[in-house]
Formats: sequence, C-alpha cells, structure tokens
Amino acid sequence: MAITTGSERARATLAFLRRKITTGEWAVGERIPIEPELSEQTGVGRSTVREAVRSLASIGMLETLPGRGTFVRSAAPTSTLLNEYLADFTLEEILSYRRALEVEAAQQAALHRTDDDIAALEQAAATEMGCTRCPVLGLVNEDADSAFSSRFHRLIFDAAKNRLLASLYSGINDQLRAPEHRGRLANVATGAEMERDHARILAAIKSGDFIDAVHAMVNHVDHDVVIVTAQHEVVPPLARTPEQQQRIANASEHTASALSEA
Ligand SMILES: [Zn+2]
Repeated sequence: MAITTGSERARATLAFLRRKITTGEWAVGERIPIEPELSEQTGVGRSTVREAVRSLASIGMLETLPGRGTFVRSAAPTSTLLNEYLADFTLEEILSYRRALEVEAAQQAALHRTDDDIAALEQAAATEMGCTRCPVLGLVNEDADSAFSSRFHRLIFDAAKNRLLASLYSGINDQLRAPEHRGRLANVATGAEMERDHARILAAIKSGDFIDAVHAMVNHVDHDVVIVTAQHEVVPPLARTPEQQQRIANASEHTASALSEA
C-alpha cells in the first residue's frame, strides 16, 4: 500500500481487514493471522493493525479472545444492523430468542465438536471456576476482560460450526448488554450452580450426547440470566429450586427499590 499519512494508513488498514472478511477470504469462525503477520501484509505498524482490529471488534465483526487469537464473528457489522433490528423487540422476546440459540448451539456442538473445541471449552470452564455467577453476557465481572466474560458460552457456538448461529448470538449479546436492558436482567445462578451446569453441558458435548446437551443447556439458561420486574414477576417462569427462587425474589426486591428511587 502506497500511503503517506497516519490517518490514511489507518483507513486503508481497516479497509484491508474488512475486505478479507466481507469477501469470505477469512471465514466466520476462522482465526485471523497474528498482528506481526498482518503488519507485514499491510506494510503498517503493529499499533495501526491493532487499532483496525479493535474497531472491527467494536462493530461485532471480529472478537479477540485472550490466549487464543482474534476470530471472525460476522461478515456484516452486527452491532449496527442486527442491533437496530433487535431494538424493536421486547427484552422478553430477545431473551427467549437467546435461549433458543443457546440450546440449538449446544446440540450442534455435541454433533460437530472437534478435539480442539473440547480442549478450549475445558480450559474456559476451568478459568471461570472462580466466578461468583455465570459470566454469560458480561453481566457480572464487568471489570474483567469483556471477551472473557462469555467465553464458555461463546466457545459452544464455535464448536457448533454454524456461522449463522454464531453471528446471531453476537448480536443478541450486544443487545442484552444495552443500557436500556441492564437494570432488568439478573444473573441468578450461583458460582457452584454454574460450575455444575457447565460441567454437565461440557460432558454431554464431549461425549456427543446431543440429547443431554440440550437438556443441560435448557436447565442452565432457565436460571442463569432472568428478567426481573418491579412486580416480582420473572421471565421465563420455569421450574427452579426454592433457593433459586429466593435469589430471584431478592433480585426483584432490589430492582423494585432501585426503580422507586429513580
Ligand atoms: Zn453459563
């Protein structure tokens, strides 16, 4: 690239990376070359490459996972197109859609996972052991790295080998993290429940048991993230243990008092 100024270099680098994705040369789900390689290909410095990668990550086309590299998440800017579309739906509708995606991904993962997928899932499950809640959707551990916050769940979508599911999931996650929904969602699965649930999901995926993968994921998503309203209603209203129900009631009271103070 024959480029002179810094901003031209930045623009050209961004265009170069985006073209790789939109043309499919870098497929969704694929890991992109490492920074030094990209720097060599584009003839710009590593910091310019890093900046371009960040800006594509911010619109949902790329995602950087610590220790694993940067992956193509979507051939289109999900956080703009898909998020604008999803913004027309209620939180209940979006959460129900997220449930459908998680369950389908778990089943597909049990059918299509590779040894590498299992190794990555095992590592993620081990890393998330210390969390007090399932960090799905980044609703907890907000100070932690955002890519870390949904690593286990995200990796299931990698293992499912379905680009459309993975792309839609990115959009859903962005939408559920939107400021207007933030106060209405609660992570109510404890760290111990998360570990037990994730272990069961992982075991089912690993053994290729697609029926148990579905059951394990259904059980998990029905109590990991729930909608809490000021009227003590919780969606989805599915079977939970008394302890889980108590935590939901506590979260509900918390929301009610937050709303009355606002
Ligand atoms: Zn989880």
